[in-house]
Amino acid sequence: MPAPKDDAGRRTYELDRAHVFHSWSAQAALDPMVVTRSEGSYLWDADGARYLDFSGQLVYTNVGHQHPRVVKAIQDQAATLCTIAPAHANDKRALAAKLITDRAPEGMNKVFFTNGGADAVEHAVRMARLHTGRYKVLTQYRGYHGGTHLTINMSGDHRRWPNDNGTAGTVHFWGPFLYRSAFHATTEAEECERALEHLEQLIRFEGPESFAALVLETVAGTSGVMPPPPGYLQGVREICDRYGIVYVADEVMVGFGRTGTWFAVEQHGVTPDLITFAKGVNSGYVPLGGVIIGDHIAETFAHRVYPGGLTYSGHPLATAAAVATIEAMADEKIVENAAEIGRTVLGPGLRALAERHPSIGEVRGVGAFWALDLVTDRETKEPLAPYGGSSPAIQAVLAEAKAQGLLVFTNYHRIHLAPPLNVTEAEVKDALTALDVALAHADAVYTGAPIA
Ligand code: PMP
Repeated sequence: MPAPKDDAGRRTYELDRAHVFHSWSAQAALDPMVVTRSEGSYLWDADGARYLDFSGQLVYTNVGHQHPRVVKAIQDQAATLCTIAPAHANDKRALAAKLITDRAPEGMNKVFFTNGGADAVEHAVRMARLHTGRYKVLTQYRGYHGGTHLTINMSGDHRRWPNDNGTAGTVHFWGPFLYRSAFHATTEAEECERALEHLEQLIRFEGPESFAALVLETVAGTSGVMPPPPGYLQGVREICDRYGIVYVADEVMVGFGRTGTWFAVEQHGVTPDLITFAKGVNSGYVPLGGVIIGDHIAETFAHRVYPGGLTYSGHPLATAAAVATIEAMADEKIVENAAEIGRTVLGPGLRALAERHPSIGEVRGVGAFWALDLVTDRETKEPLAPYGGSSPAIQAVLAEAKAQGLLVFTNYHRIHLAPPLNVTEAEVKDALTALDVALAHADAVYTGAPIA
């Protein structure tokens, strides 16, 4: 994308390129879009071009951009009390904690607030270690839990290897994923059964008494949007109970409606011991994350000091945004909309695209959370871009989507669709039309045919 023609936009671009060090990037290869404003499902670049935002930015704009209630809540809070240390009680922090725990499974009544997702996972593991007196942590390959020292080591894919600074105490296991099965299974039921067997054997070999926690994304997100098969999470819950391991559901990406229920565990009928959240809790308007704590774990720290904290834990601006986000989601039936749009428009629309585009190996998702797994060959399932990398073909798909006015979230060979949960049917149809055009670039690799 060329630098903006607009003077102010070009100045921002040049300052950014000169001074901003971006995450997950080779700095010289960067060409960021200058974004100047946003509203609902759309954002605008410095030259006034409008884009339909199905990226959710980093999958967090659950109520869309600039929701008036959330913007006003932040403005009102800023006018009265911008900041107060965690030791004091504050109305928005207290109310946010109540609204969050009201929506969590029974028996989870306390919230520890953090600044984002990785530190929520860090604290969940710390709580589990102190609660059990054990050290080791189980996490899944094809999972992501954050970019800090512990959480990057817990993450189970290519993002971990270059950052690997010693995985002492972290043990990875394979989860169920029928499309690229680690267990040579042919049905969902077989995949689920073998994955649970593998997990239990691994725990026995490692020594069950050594594990403090099992940390699991309820629906693995950045690794490919992989909803677990029926029964898997119940099996995980049973194994954790059998060996006294704290089950931490990482709902940083899927919490607060993304999959069509407030928390994704609801759809699987399980109650974890701890739930981590961030992103959607306030649509990312002000950084916020946290841990929802089961009563039995909260009890451990009733008369024993919890040795941990953060300067900005439960920041008033962030929790005011959370209160407004959750109230808006409830009043405007935004979670229900996510479930309905996924079931009736987005899911069927993507499956229809798969019938026309041979480069779509698999369509996966639930609610407002979907991925297209792009391949160069449906038989071999060879990814359109290598794990941990990119390819001219995937770049061409993204560039064409953008030229069609659509922004998506991508990882390697996948296109992820994470629209606002209050997206309309017409917006979804526009996105599907843009994708239809863009996917021709992936098909061209598959079939060798020139793009029309
Ligand atoms: N857990 C999951 C499941 C995530 O998707 C992410 C972020 N993508 C994190 C943890 C880390 O969150 P943050 O970037 O806010 O630290």
